[in-house]
Amino acid sequence: MRALVLEKKLQYQANHPDPKPGEGECLVRVLMAGICSTDLQLVQGYMQFRGVLGHEFVGVVESGSAAWLGKRVVCEINCVCRGCDMCLSGLANHCRKRTVVGIDGRDGGFADLVSVPEANLHEVPDTLSDEQAVFVEPVAAAYQTLSQYPFVAKTKATVVGSGRLGLLVAQVLAETGCQLTVVGRNEAKLLLAEKRGVQAVHVDELICRADHDVVVDCSGSPEGFELAMRLVRPRGSIVLKSTFAGEQGVNLAAVVVNEITVVGSRCGSFTEAINALVREAVEVRPMITQTFPFDRAVEAMAVAGRRESLKILLDMRR
Ligand SMILES: [Zn+2]
Ligand SMILES: [Zn+2]
Repeated sequence: MRALVLEKKLQYQANHPDPKPGEGECLVRVLMAGICSTDLQLVQGYMQFRGVLGHEFVGVVESGSAAWLGKRVVCEINCVCRGCDMCLSGLANHCRKRTVVGIDGRDGGFADLVSVPEANLHEVPDTLSDEQAVFVEPVAAAYQTLSQYPFVAKTKATVVGSGRLGLLVAQVLAETGCQLTVVGRNEAKLLLAEKRGVQAVHVDELICRADHDVVVDCSGSPEGFELAMRLVRPRGSIVLKSTFAGEQGVNLAAVVVNEITVVGSRCGSFTEAINALVREAVEVRPMITQTFPFDRAVEAMAVAGRRESLKILLDMRR
């Protein structure tokens, strides 16, 4: 099969061995996949990952139990043991023995075929296109923010970062009716937020008052987290969605002095994400910068790394 493989460097392979599904797993034939910042970080050495990249994809179940055969699916990325203390306490996403599709210890979906646990599958409703379905995983990650802070109408909230994840988080928070601003550097991306009815401010024009109840950091940079610390009010919260791997030197004194609650935030509910996409509470199509045929995946990764890019899709259907 074709696959985008990270070994010493990133390689497109036309004849990569097909995956062999393990117990409880099935084979999914990938239709489309999305490139995420995490993929770019993995290439830079994050998690020391080796193997097939890709954790945002939609596909059709090609072999597995009859109940799933032929269904169009998306797949939760945490593959868990169901026996450890985290799994038994209802925190399976934090399973001690987990592998993570295309991120940690398990091949991903930048390939014609991927092997995944059937327990991780969600059927995609016919009303969603393949392009929209690719966004289920990152939209779910955006929804996790809502389960970690009680956003209400009077909540003064800012999203730092108008990139791939920031624009999804902004749309999810907008539905709560909270007083919401997105801060970013790229005018075109800020305009997308405005089109969804979210107030957008360029970072150079931001008046920085420490008066926000909650700041969601989607910047992917230490500078973004520092800005979040300057925006949040004393006793306020920062929801941290950035994994700025390998970066050091963030001064956390403000967290102590202002008694700020910092909450890490990762994966969320696929069910909520699918529902949000179906009712168009989250509009993802304007976020697609470019779609590449799969054999141009290496080039697609390079384009995804450009500042002006939002979502880059890989099309395995051709
Ligand atoms: Zn991702
Ligand atoms: Zn476990």
